Amino acid sequence: MNNKFDVIVIGGGHAGVEACLVTARLGLETALVTLKKNTIGQMSCNPAIGGLGKGQLVKEVDALFGEMGLAIDDTGIQFRTLNESKGPAVRSSRAQADRDLYRDRIQQVIFNTPKLTVIEAACAEIIFDTNNKISGITTEQGQSINCQALVITTGTFLGGLMHTGEKKTPGGRVGEASSLSLSSALKSLGLRMGRLKTGTPPRLDRDSIDYSKLEEQPGDQPIRPFSFRTSRIKREQISCWITHTSKATHDIIAASVERSPLFNGQINSTGPRYCPSIEDKIHRFRDKETHHIFLEPEGFTSKIVYPNGISTSLPIDVQEAFVRSIPGLEQVKFLEYGYAVEYDYVDPTELDHTLKVKAATGLYLAGQINGTTGYEEAAAQGLMAGINAALYVKQQTSLVLSRSEAYIGVMIDDLVTKGAIEPYRMFTSRAEYRLHLREDNADSRLTPLAKNLGLVGDQQWRDFEAKQTRITTERARLENSFLKPSSTTQAWLKSKNSAELLDRISLAGLLRRPEISYRDLENLLPAAEALDDLEALRVETEIKFAGYLKRQELDVEKLKYLENVKIPEHFSYTAVPGLSMEIRDRLETIRPETLGQASRVYGVTPAAVSLLSVLVKRGQNNTATRID
Ligand code: FAD
Repeated sequence: MNNKFDVIVIGGGHAGVEACLVTARLGLETALVTLKKNTIGQMSCNPAIGGLGKGQLVKEVDALFGEMGLAIDDTGIQFRTLNESKGPAVRSSRAQADRDLYRDRIQQVIFNTPKLTVIEAACAEIIFDTNNKISGITTEQGQSINCQALVITTGTFLGGLMHTGEKKTPGGRVGEASSLSLSSALKSLGLRMGRLKTGTPPRLDRDSIDYSKLEEQPGDQPIRPFSFRTSRIKREQISCWITHTSKATHDIIAASVERSPLFNGQINSTGPRYCPSIEDKIHRFRDKETHHIFLEPEGFTSKIVYPNGISTSLPIDVQEAFVRSIPGLEQVKFLEYGYAVEYDYVDPTELDHTLKVKAATGLYLAGQINGTTGYEEAAAQGLMAGINAALYVKQQTSLVLSRSEAYIGVMIDDLVTKGAIEPYRMFTSRAEYRLHLREDNADSRLTPLAKNLGLVGDQQWRDFEAKQTRITTERARLENSFLKPSSTTQAWLKSKNSAELLDRISLAGLLRRPEISYRDLENLLPAAEALDDLEALRVETEIKFAGYLKRQELDVEKLKYLENVKIPEHFSYTAVPGLSMEIRDRLETIRPETLGQASRVYGVTPAAVSLLSVLVKRGQNNTATRID
């Protein structure tokens, strides 16, 4: 077996998949070392991709020519746009996946990508040369494999310990062992590490559910695909179902609280705040009489149903009792029981903005190992860590996305400047410029970067350019075509509950009226070349919100000022008079590279940034030199 690679990626989860595909696609000999070949691309928990803020991440991964968007388009069983009525800044896509088809599709791509070798093994140790530079790994099976760059994406497996009631089982997820040696290897590098937890609900037998008591939830029509490269979703869609907890459910859980590992001291680590277990929800929101549960089929033919909303680590007998107190689930059969898993993670402030470990050369971390939760967060980090590992091997300039360029930039900046004291999940509210960072324009924001890297084929680039031209041409047409106040126009406006015209108006001016949509105008005066649904949405948003977008662009320019002031590498914060001890300690630990990054470190006040700004600009620090 070849034991020399340019890049090794450890872990075939959502981060590892994107990381190894991109390094191989960038022409580097890549090894994916993972515990089991047949679980590559496995969804550990919910069989769904996207969601609020997460949909944006998937679109950005896709715009950078990652795999996740294509995979879900090919294997989705139900597609929906969330927050449709709340406006373009917060609109996000979500799709239920056929869990097995999704995993199989990812594996098919992995096994057929040139320059990518899959090795089934457990990484045990990391090997460095004398300059703290990565030179390879050893596996628990005794192999040594050499590389120039290493990307570790081991998810919930480092020191993984699963809990169901009093029962504790070592493991990263059900049926898979935990990684103990690798966790020790990372600790021995001196990295700050912590422990987090997550949980999953039981899985239920589709045929034992009484659907007559449930509310049906169909998908959207027409369907909007995730990937900019998918023209249409080919598979038929199936429904999910909604039920809710009852008073009996709450009583059973409340009576068993001392048997819950979350409440009896068995689990001490922090779980995802926005995805709490059912026992946590009932404890925290005592006056809420009921909680929604979404019954999500795991596939077109699968017998398994995923009850979204009742993640739990209660003992098996309590799980059976409370689930059977839920309407429609009175006779339900369990196929698997819920559990929680505790795992080690690395404090992401140990990383720089390329996701490289600051204390080592050529070592990158991505995914849940960095304190995040979710497939989408993992995929986005995997892609960026893979790109930067490849650029490092090729000795080219690294790629860092800013907060104004992408949600990916927001997430990585949050992680490396603030750390993660609880599992980090993306939300639209984390982004300052969310009207600018929309799903529909992710390709125009990011595909040119993918093109520069060499990830975009000639035909794909021509398609991209043709789309951008269609959009700019259509915007210009709307600005330059006018309607006069004729009797037909006034009658049409009346039918739309829109004010009559006093003078001529451009189509764009008309579109700025809230009650008029792009499709209305298209029916009135069709474009020479019809736009598809997403293109139409983009034109509509850019015209309707032109004023807000302009204002955000000005804010972005202001932000760039602080982002461009570099703090010298050896700047001594202890020598800055007037900074509190707490702020000094945090800045010394995180060592931000720019004033912009410093301003986002927890506890750093605008006054502290002003102080730093004066010193950095004057070059007045014992070791400071001006480099901006
Ligand atoms: P993973 O998908 O976990 O993949 C890790 C990979 O590393 C695996 O392929 C494994 O085989 C491999 N590996 C591990 N150790 C080694 C080693 N030493 N050598 C070689 N290979 C190794 N997310 C949510 O958003 N919401 C939830 O409610 C939620 N609940 C969850 C419940 C459970 C029980 C679990 C396990 C996860 C849950 N998640 C949830 C998290 C979600 O699964 C992860 O966020 C996502 O899978 C992380 O992707 P990843 O690529 O970082 O790691």
